[in-house]
Amino acid sequence: MPTPPSLRLAGQHALVTGASSGIGVAVAKALAAHGASVIVNYGHDTDGANAVVKDITDAGGQALAYQADVSQEAQVQAMFQQAIEHFGGLDIVVSNAGLQVDAPFVDMTLAQWQKVIDVNLTGQFLVLREAARQFMKQGVRPDVSKAAGKIICMSSVHEVIPWAGHVNYATSKGGIMQLMKSVAQELAPHKIRVNSIGPGAIKTPINHDAWATPEAEAKLLTLIPYDRVGEPEDIGQLAAWLVSDEADYITGQTIFIDGGMTLYPGFATGG
Ligand code: NAD
Repeated sequence: MPTPPSLRLAGQHALVTGASSGIGVAVAKALAAHGASVIVNYGHDTDGANAVVKDITDAGGQALAYQADVSQEAQVQAMFQQAIEHFGGLDIVVSNAGLQVDAPFVDMTLAQWQKVIDVNLTGQFLVLREAARQFMKQGVRPDVSKAAGKIICMSSVHEVIPWAGHVNYATSKGGIMQLMKSVAQELAPHKIRVNSIGPGAIKTPINHDAWATPEAEAKLLTLIPYDRVGEPEDIGQLAAWLVSDEADYITGQTIFIDGGMTLYPGFATGG
């Protein structure tokens, strides 16, 4: 009998970075709801990570919180070692951790530039490289999944939409696009799938000021043809499907999930 869709990740082990807040929380919970056991990585927010672990275990799932800064090579390597020892393997990695440090371009300091590149882009490199090494070592285990491993990079609509005042952030997301595609090309023969999710505006702490008041939300909605701001759960559901065997033929793609933000809404009235 086929596995019911609700348990399409049964028996699989996942690691989600930046899972103490926002999108990462929803992704960790969605993977767990579909049967995966989950490492809940976090940077500093121990209480946030523990709350996610509690929610997952209270719902009958398995989860473990693990602190590591994704921009630090030794910490990322130690986290993967710990995850693999704990679960005995790894099948899914969602490289989600990210941040914004905004400034007008002419005022942006090297430290502000570097911080965002270190976490958002170098952090992705470090996480993807450890994931790839483990997936290649494991190979395909047909009783678990058709793929030897599945990777999702959390990108953004800003991998294609330029963003004044956020040059470091938009550059990091543009970089993720070529990182993801090049790694996907290199790893496809090893049956490792690598894709990105490109969210539009999703209600999380990272962009709180953009949706927290009715005035701010109304302004934001002028950029969203579908006329609602996204919820973290929108991203969680997509992630759970994209790492499942139902999406087995998808690799090297960015799936934008943005209520139409990438449809050039300014042209809706003829331009
Ligand atoms: P968030 O601030 O709620 O969550 C970010 C998470 O990353 C937190 O858990 C934080 O602790 C973690 N993090 C930051 N630096 C870290 C580090 N050095 N090491 C480990 N963890 C670290 O924001 P979010 O909106 O949930 O963002 C998650 C991802 O989604 C980011 O990559 C972000 O760029 C992307 N994204 C968000 C939106 C949106 O509208 N919210 C849109 C597009 C893309």
